[in-house]
Amino acid sequence: MVADPPKTDPKGFAEPAANGGPVVGPAEDQVATSGGCCSSWTQVRRCLRANLLVLLTVVAVAIGVALGLGVSKAGGLGPQHWTAFEFPGELLLRLLKMIILPLVVCSLISGAASLDPSALGRLGGWALLFFLVTTLLASALGVGLALALQPGAAFAAINASFEGVTGSVEETPSKEVLDSFLDLARNIFPSNLVSATFSSYSTTYQLRKINGTQVKVPVGLEVEGTNILGLVVFAIVFGGALRKLGPEGELLIRFFNSFNDATMVLVSWIMWYAPVGILFLVASKIAKMQDVGKLFTSLGKYILCCLLGHAIHGILVLPLIYFIFTRKNPYRFLWGIMTPLATAFGTSSSSATLPLMMKCVEEKNGVSKHISRFILPIGATVNMDGAALFQCVAAVFIAQLNRRPLNFVNIITILVTATASSVGAAGIPAGGVLTLAIILEAVNLPVNEISLILAVDWLVDRSCTILNVEGDALGAGLLQSYVDRTKTQSTEPELIQVKSEVPLNPLPAATEEGNPLLKQYQGPPGDAATCEKESVM
Ligand code: ASP
Repeated sequence: MVADPPKTDPKGFAEPAANGGPVVGPAEDQVATSGGCCSSWTQVRRCLRANLLVLLTVVAVAIGVALGLGVSKAGGLGPQHWTAFEFPGELLLRLLKMIILPLVVCSLISGAASLDPSALGRLGGWALLFFLVTTLLASALGVGLALALQPGAAFAAINASFEGVTGSVEETPSKEVLDSFLDLARNIFPSNLVSATFSSYSTTYQLRKINGTQVKVPVGLEVEGTNILGLVVFAIVFGGALRKLGPEGELLIRFFNSFNDATMVLVSWIMWYAPVGILFLVASKIAKMQDVGKLFTSLGKYILCCLLGHAIHGILVLPLIYFIFTRKNPYRFLWGIMTPLATAFGTSSSSATLPLMMKCVEEKNGVSKHISRFILPIGATVNMDGAALFQCVAAVFIAQLNRRPLNFVNIITILVTATASSVGAAGIPAGGVLTLAIILEAVNLPVNEISLILAVDWLVDRSCTILNVEGDALGAGLLQSYVDRTKTQSTEPELIQVKSEVPLNPLPAATEEGNPLLKQYQGPPGDAATCEKESVM
């Protein structure tokens, strides 16, 4: 929704607003040039207006921390008051969750339908390569830090003081690695699309007595939780199939485009509520913390390893990769996505952050809709650098705790299984802890030690989620830069052009939001007017 530009006279100055209201745009420049003081004030105002949401979000996090500490110091709240205190945050989570399903499905269908299969394959391939390499780097960083800082050795020395913090853990049969991977594959191909919107397949075990001996029997169950991976795969393939239909698929493609655009309008409304929700999410979490001192003395080194790893990967490694490939300032890019990063911190959920992330990378960082709407849902589902990093730290930590030396093969196993299990982790709070069992099983470490990791996951999960979503966004930025470069370098427009396999009638009212399938190629690449109208991949 872009406002009409103000009318200008031939010199480019704004006409006074007809209703006497404030004049915006060029007229402000006019004021800006009339005096140094006014100029800087106008610039400050413009800067504040452009970054209002980011500033509100950062302020909300700070107020949330202060409010949470205040409530905690005052001795907490009664049960009735807790419900009211948590309600604004709960409302934000509900709004974001409500929007995820239509957003992921529609954006992927229209994204996949808008790309010609070779462009789709190429973009998808580059994105997956980027996700794979960065996740492996994050895993290696996690293992390296844990081996260097030895968090498990420090914990063992003060282990006795930890009793009571985690509580007792119920012993349940641990999951076999093979079953974990089979479940992943089963979820990629859901047997029922409707049930995939609210449940996923998971193998659990029952202990049965067979011929007098206790045997672990695998049982398949549908457990609560959207099977996003299955929906992502279906939406991409379905989008490709619609494109293949040609004119017959046109109507449905337009339907999904409109659905997608309307969903994004809803997102832009929800965004203005995000600072309030984040404030109360953070405040209620901090106000409810117990035994923080004990947790930090016992597990401080483990927490430090995770947070330090997340910081190094998020502030140095990923920005460096982005800079090397794009030659652009990565921190400017990160500033543009500050609101979704704060949302990731507040919600601990990549999925819940997805709507705001899409909005910000498109509007603040200039990533085209065709890229962001195709890549970000995939990234939010499969790319979890933060999860892989903390899982590696956790695995090495648990090995040190049990005085189990790790040989080279163990370390490689941890790296590979952490990368794979982070793909299977759901973008929800504590999603990564649930798949940590796969890694522990793979290197024969006790799975019940996960209770230690869970005790501090409310904190580690936040930085983990920030890193997860940052990786997705930078991946989208890199792809945009790759596409831009291909566009300017290619002398063969047909190779990079999003092609229509059948001639389609251009829509008279086609807008930038529309599907490139519905537009006709009119000129060579590099022609500004053409590039604006065409989606070139
Ligand atoms: N909470 C993380 C996310 O949503 C997943 C995890 O626990 O690692 O991205």
